[in-house]
Amino acid sequence: MKSIQIFRTVAQVRQWRANALFAHQSVGLVPTMGALHDGHCSLISQSLQDNDKSIVSIFVNPSQFAPHEDLDAYPRTVDADMALLNQFPGKKVDAVFIPKVSEMYPSGISTNIDEQRGAFVAVKGCSEQLEGSSRPQFFRGVATVVTKLLNAVTPTRVYFGQKDAQQCVVVQNLVKDLLIETTVKVLPTKREANGLAMSSRNAYLSEETKQKSAVIYQSLVNGERFYQEKSQHGPVNVGEILARITDTLNDSTGFDIEYIALSHPETLEDLEVVEPGVGAVVSTAVRVPREGSSQQTRLIDNVILH
Ligand code: AMP
Repeated sequence: MKSIQIFRTVAQVRQWRANALFAHQSVGLVPTMGALHDGHCSLISQSLQDNDKSIVSIFVNPSQFAPHEDLDAYPRTVDADMALLNQFPGKKVDAVFIPKVSEMYPSGISTNIDEQRGAFVAVKGCSEQLEGSSRPQFFRGVATVVTKLLNAVTPTRVYFGQKDAQQCVVVQNLVKDLLIETTVKVLPTKREANGLAMSSRNAYLSEETKQKSAVIYQSLVNGERFYQEKSQHGPVNVGEILARITDTLNDSTGFDIEYIALSHPETLEDLEVVEPGVGAVVSTAVRVPREGSSQQTRLIDNVILH
């Protein structure tokens, strides 16, 4: 069995991609920040199924972190990630791209936006609200690094998780507006047995907090159930759906709710009513206690109403 190739430079990735192109092979890209879990694995499995060749990128992208955020603390577990990829059942990925920061940011990069130099990508209209309102430079960083990865790999297909619903909308608009030739695939959120959305940041949580955090998804599901019943008779008022969600979520002591929002699934505009057939993204960000620290961990989750 061929072993997984590890690339550190864009030049190596381009050579590999050129070989696949000459062999008329399709290529799937799964961008990640590492600390791989089952959520990442489901994207990788789908890429392996859809494409002749698959490449996973592992890069903790500095430009999407603000100076006060957890760039330094973010889990970096490359050895465990490689072990997981090597033990993948059946077909394995062909390559992993693990670049240094200087490879991805040839002009250098500071998390302080005033000190940044060089080219960045903004996707206006869907980056400012929700996650963007508490993390103003987040989607500029995401759109920039995704553009770089798409330029380096030129994949046939690129895979993202519904867990980061707004990121999916930003990337879809990025690909559309910058005329990038790739197909964006969005896959469902993988969850722990108790419903908590899998996330690399769950590593920050104690067992007790992980159990308590199940309430985040449960409350979204309560809103979803209410909508499913009500929408049989026509449009449903957002205030009523929100009430079902906050009823459950407000009970959880020690959790700070940053937002709960119902947004248009394509434009992410705030909704007042949900029209059946149009639907909505119901998303939330909740800050929960971090194990062994006075800081909090932000958890995000969402469900889609149809
Ligand atoms: P990250 O490493 O957190 O940047 O995530 C890399 C990719 O995996 C993104 O497209 C995420 O949306 C996706 N992802 C993260 N968590 C999950 C999950 N629980 N289920 C499905 N996809 C996920």
